[in-house]
Amino acid sequence: MTKTFPTSGTEWQALDAKMTEMSCTDIDWRRGRAPLYVFHGSDGAYEVGFQAFMKYFSENALGGRRAFFGLKRMEDEVVEMGLDLFQAPEGAVGNMTTGGSESIFMAVKACRDWARSQPRLKPPYNIVAPFTVHAAFNKAGDVMDIEVKRLATGENRRADVAAMAAAMDEGTIMLAGSAPCFPHGVIDPIGALSDLALARNVWLHVDACVGGYVAPFFQRIGRDIPAFDMALPGVRSLSADLHKFGFCPKPASTLFYRQKDDRERGLFHFDQWPNGQFSTATLSGTRAGGAVAAAWAVMNHLGEAGYMDIARQLAAMTDAYVAGIKAIDGLHLWAEPDLTIINFGAYDLDIFNAAEGMERRGWLPGLTRNPKGMQAMLSMYHEAGREDYLADLAASVQEAQEQGGGSDLKAVY
Ligand SMILES: *Cc1c(COP(=O)(O)O)cnc(C)c1O
Repeated sequence: MTKTFPTSGTEWQALDAKMTEMSCTDIDWRRGRAPLYVFHGSDGAYEVGFQAFMKYFSENALGGRRAFFGLKRMEDEVVEMGLDLFQAPEGAVGNMTTGGSESIFMAVKACRDWARSQPRLKPPYNIVAPFTVHAAFNKAGDVMDIEVKRLATGENRRADVAAMAAAMDEGTIMLAGSAPCFPHGVIDPIGALSDLALARNVWLHVDACVGGYVAPFFQRIGRDIPAFDMALPGVRSLSADLHKFGFCPKPASTLFYRQKDDRERGLFHFDQWPNGQFSTATLSGTRAGGAVAAAWAVMNHLGEAGYMDIARQLAAMTDAYVAGIKAIDGLHLWAEPDLTIINFGAYDLDIFNAAEGMERRGWLPGLTRNPKGMQAMLSMYHEAGREDYLADLAASVQEAQEQGGGSDLKAVY
């Protein structure tokens, strides 16, 4: 039976109850049972983000320049705070987007338009990257007819810069690296990529979508985090999501360009329609005003001290997860995490069998296919359930050992 358009209306109370019922079999993410999709920093950041979002619930960030001047100012300040955090040089610019995929899309578009002004770069264009970069590069490539050459990684599952140099040709317009990559949580050697990009005069995009707003604070609390930001002269654009480890409500990401000209290339201008000049820095037209206001409010609420405080808690929690996983016989970390993304597997059992065991125990298992593993992006949702997770994981691994054989589980996102 398919749902038909309702003939009459329903009061909120009944709808509220119905919605709760519709979601009653959801993964129990508030208790840390989803390893991705949702992120928690502190109760204060959640509350401030919620209130600020609701305060600007109806406003449209598309109208920031003509109607919602407060929102425009907030967006400008979010960008300026980001430029400061990522050590951007004088003259660097940026804008908010609705997510990491859109930030990456706009960076690729700006790069493509720059490449068209460079006769030495010959279409069909391509991007050279480790195969660990996010699928969003291929989404952009698909739309813009740009191939993404995905290469095997080198040491510690980080980008193999020599292999990337060798894979470049006259169609290569962009190098990409992650800080860190989604699958393994390690930061690519961005310093070496920066040198390569400058030597070959191509664009380097750093995808700091997941880790951008946590890595600088891990640095500040004394963790050994390699350089990855705009202090490196070859980094021409950088994406960082506020709605992940910036602990801001969705949909909110930031995109930064080293040069003003590049942002100009990222813009879309059009005037051949009845309404005259139309310009956007995003693929989206209408954008949630609430997301802009909430990002501004959360960043100001936490400040450097607040983000450092969360970073300390995240680091301690991740260490405890890592120690717990290493203590389970048969499990191996596929990489030592730079931040809070963990990825582990096993040599003598099918780890997906253990993942199925976790599923039976009410956890959504994060999966990687190559190497076969389990993965989690740990935020403060995952502190309370840590001991349960590790106990259930140990039991699931033991079951998988006894069971033997292979699993039919598919890694799907
Ligand atoms: C999440 C993520 C993206 C895409 O971001 P969305 O907000 O989901 O569009 C891109 N790159 C990395 C490394 C990510 O983790």
